[in-house]
Amino acid sequence: MISLYNVCLSFSKRPLMTEFDFIRRYLQKQQSDSEVLLGIGDDAAVIRPRAGFDLCFSSDMFLKNRHFFEDVHPADLAYKVLAVNISDMAAMGAKPRWILLSAGLPDLQENWLEDFCTSLFSLARRFGIMLIGGDTTKGDMVFNITIIGELPQGKALRRDAARDGDDIWVSGQVGLAAAALNHHWQLLKLPSDILEICEQARLRPKPRVALGQLLLPFAHAAQDISDGLAQDLGHILKASAMGAEIFVEQLPTLPQLRGILPEKQLYDCLLAGGDDYELVFTVPESQREEVMKAGKISNTPVCRIGKINRSGRLKMTLADSSELHLNSLGFDHFG
Ligand code: ADP
Ligand code: MG
Repeated sequence: MISLYNVCLSFSKRPLMTEFDFIRRYLQKQQSDSEVLLGIGDDAAVIRPRAGFDLCFSSDMFLKNRHFFEDVHPADLAYKVLAVNISDMAAMGAKPRWILLSAGLPDLQENWLEDFCTSLFSLARRFGIMLIGGDTTKGDMVFNITIIGELPQGKALRRDAARDGDDIWVSGQVGLAAAALNHHWQLLKLPSDILEICEQARLRPKPRVALGQLLLPFAHAAQDISDGLAQDLGHILKASAMGAEIFVEQLPTLPQLRGILPEKQLYDCLLAGGDDYELVFTVPESQREEVMKAGKISNTPVCRIGKINRSGRLKMTLADSSELHLNSLGFDHFG
């Protein structure tokens, strides 16, 4: 798409690298894929889906100073922009297949782009994802990825499918990314070894694609935790017209955080922190063995944290059986 700004630019000094050099040099050298009839280079990409599969679409935006710090390393930035999109596919039980990348960039700096693209394609390759298109424009730094995944027909893990009596499970550990962020904001202080572990969790979340796909045959509802466990589980409860009780002491986290953080901060990180990109999912009690097996096969820790009920509300219970009340249940972009 042309902009008025481009017209002005073409009369001034030529940049070192043009938009088209960038596309040719960095984006167009990928393995082809039998379902992609047309990839980068035409006006639009063309995909022929496989018989027996549904396609599943999602899109996530990344803004400077809102979703990433200005001085972030381009490799970490690219990893996270893609990982959070892959995580949405994991939450549906889908296999991520294709992405479109839209980028606003203040300039085309070769070293920066090299690091960004190497990291992006390395993660994409790891999950068998192909970049099939996008848009590049000069401007404030912003990224948007649209991701397309495949699901066996009619089998998506939805938010509205939790049922009374289901166990509630969480993958991996929660609260680490929030602890690192709060350290950055000087709201708490982590020792350097713990900070490093939490910072790694914040910068390099692990999308739980293998687990999501293994859950497809027996899990009821699922969602990934991007804005805080309490809020994201709340979406499942609302969509399913259910309630739940979770046991705060059972939440999986880095054990050292329980020792270091004052209770209020600990619970805020675990339940309202966000940026975890773990899965929260509900499964009938009769399938506990199956969940454990799926965790083992996908090499993903899984932890039972509570139960779905008909109360219509989320109760967070502490070790002494008292109820925890949080000021905020999670991140709200306009809050
Ligand atoms: P248009 O003028 O139709 O917007 P462009 O010249 O912007 O087309 O893009 C040319 C080709 O390069 C298209 O196939 C587009 O999908 C692809 N492309 C542009 N920017 C990106 C990007 N950031 N990532 C992937 N593909 C891109
Ligand atoms: Mg374009």
